[in-house]
Amino acid sequence: MVDDMLGFLEGIRAEPAWRPMPREVVEELSRPAPVEGEGAEAAYADFRRLVLPYRMGNVHPRFWGRVMGTGTPFGMLAEMLTAGMNTNVSGLHSAASHVEAQVLSWFKPVMGMPPEASGVLVSGCSAANLVGLTVARDEKGRRVGVDVYRQGVQALPGRPTLYTSEDAHNSVDRAAMLLGLGVDAVRKVPMDAAFRVRADVLERMVEEDRAKGLLPLCVVGNAGTAATGAIDDLSALADVAARQGLWFHVDGAFGAWAGLSPALRGRVAGIERADSVAFDLHKWMYVPYDVGCVLVRDAAAHRRAMSATQAGYIAQAPRGIESDPFRFNELGPQLSRNFRALKVWLSVKEHGLAAYARQIEQNVAQAALLAALAEGHPELELLSPAALNVVCLRYNDGRLDEAALDRVNAEVLMRLHERGVAVPTTGKVRGKRALRFAIVNHRSRREDFVATAEAVVALGRELVAEQAP
Ligand SMILES: *Cc1c(COP(=O)(O)O)cnc(C)c1O
Repeated sequence: MVDDMLGFLEGIRAEPAWRPMPREVVEELSRPAPVEGEGAEAAYADFRRLVLPYRMGNVHPRFWGRVMGTGTPFGMLAEMLTAGMNTNVSGLHSAASHVEAQVLSWFKPVMGMPPEASGVLVSGCSAANLVGLTVARDEKGRRVGVDVYRQGVQALPGRPTLYTSEDAHNSVDRAAMLLGLGVDAVRKVPMDAAFRVRADVLERMVEEDRAKGLLPLCVVGNAGTAATGAIDDLSALADVAARQGLWFHVDGAFGAWAGLSPALRGRVAGIERADSVAFDLHKWMYVPYDVGCVLVRDAAAHRRAMSATQAGYIAQAPRGIESDPFRFNELGPQLSRNFRALKVWLSVKEHGLAAYARQIEQNVAQAALLAALAEGHPELELLSPAALNVVCLRYNDGRLDEAALDRVNAEVLMRLHERGVAVPTTGKVRGKRALRFAIVNHRSRREDFVATAEAVVALGRELVAEQAP
């Protein structure tokens, strides 16, 4: 298996970026559980035949869909060690807690957090946003004399309200839903021409809402929106949060890692004023799925909000295995927790932070290249500025109306996928259907972007020709 998978990764460039699943495969994957075992070899053969060929494909050099990290061979081997140890990092004392604490301590300076800040590894940035916003909710409660942990949100005086960008990730909505605030409690603040939240409008909305009897709680800033990669003016948002007495949370899923690069760090200035920061390791740090992280400036507030009432059998002892000083299970929603820290720890030790900074800079340069290709071609249109590593473009020969452009570009996208050429995904930019490239791929080369831009033009022409009378 190890040899096969290393060989698979070595040969990935020659493979299609994606391939559709034949109906027979789908049918085989709907069969009931075997009563008698078929044995490891037959089971593995089924994996090679039914699963591996129909992978999502984010290990491919021309995969730029959603925001999907690419993983590394050493990360794969780290997962083997993790599974072999089968550690549950849930408050029993072992080296695993110290490894998790160590990787958190490595990331705090990158994210502008002090050494005494708290944090925890979670499944991804959705869970990280949920934890950050839970602490935000409970701390607001404390300031108005309500113990939300015990009494719930219904005890709050006025409707708790969050503020974020129109382009915020829907995990912010989901967090509001799970926290009992409701999705309507997330107020979407209009953006400027560069897709950044308008801080002046934000402040006016907060003041108007408060006058109406709502309870403004938190500002969620974006360090890299999934839609266009835009980075909010985090310093301006921090100013509004400070003036208005709001928690300042930053969703920095991938973009916060700009802080690793001396050349890019300035773009996330202000992140060091956040009360909590959420980010992923499985996107722009190229660590295999899944692992994200939340850091919280006020460690006591973090533990207060997240630690469930102690169960009788989960006690803290002065010595022995019950003496874990970190108890990460009390800092997030999970009790049983995979040893996610190991693949992060091993990867950072393997490469060093400077190599990650250079790789991130390369992805940003590739986004600029793709944007330049789009701007330089008469049949391509760039739909959003490549503020970081996300490029939105479309085929546009100048003769189609908006409805036709949407149809043609949706079809261009599906043909790119089905022919295995490349995997961008889609999004709407100011109502226009875009081919969206989120570049967090360490296997991509310059030629991949040139070839893909050419393929978009060729497919666009093909479609226009098909539709001509
Ligand atoms: C991907 C992403 C998320 C969600 O992260 P998961 O790791 O998929 O849970 C949140 N915010 C932004 C900006 C993202 O790009």
